[in-house]
Amino acid sequence: MKKIFTVIIIILILLLCLTWWETPRREVCGEVDRSYSVVLDAGHGGTDGGALGITTGCKEADINLAITLKTKALLESAQVHVVLTRDNEGSLCGEPYSKQRDMQLRARLINDAAPDIVVSVHMNSYPNASVKGAQVFYYPDSEQGEALAGKIQESFVMHADKENKRVIKEGDFFLLRTYAGPSALVECGFLTCPEEERLLLEQEYQDIVAYSIFDGIMRYLMT
Ligand SMILES: [Zn+2]
Repeated sequence: MKKIFTVIIIILILLLCLTWWETPRREVCGEVDRSYSVVLDAGHGGTDGGALGITTGCKEADINLAITLKTKALLESAQVHVVLTRDNEGSLCGEPYSKQRDMQLRARLINDAAPDIVVSVHMNSYPNASVKGAQVFYYPDSEQGEALAGKIQESFVMHADKENKRVIKEGDFFLLRTYAGPSALVECGFLTCPEEERLLLEQEYQDIVAYSIFDGIMRYLMT
């Protein structure tokens, strides 16, 4: 009987420890702050491959996912709770594909998660192959969105490309319109520029891009 009691006590202690580990908290100036949560949205997926690489024909959707997963790992290492709209190549609505349905499901997921911020990850395209550089968009007149986009753009210049002269821009994208909280849409580079396409397909550059997004998010959350 005594043995059973001891086992129960040990199980209870283990459960307590488990609960503590599952609730990551951030120490701020000695105070325990609540944990942050971020929704990362890898654009496109399934039948909708997005923009195509000018040299290799690579799909934007695949690079979006790769960079999103890398960004997620970095955020989680900083105790930020991350929710993804998609974690595989498929769309959210399955087949037959419907862009409208897919976007509605993303919007619902984001609003259900009610995160501190939303970041949507994309690759750009343009008819002129010399056009390049990452650029971050925010919903028109959203002060919080503008601040978030600004931090991410700064991080891209700091870590990915010091020559990048692009500035943040307003963009009436469905995904930004759909959430009242701070959000930004990141165009990580142009798949229609051969040089940038090559970089965006490299693991090392994808790591730098993911770090730029992560760093921008963290600097926004900390201010
Ligand atoms: Zn896109």
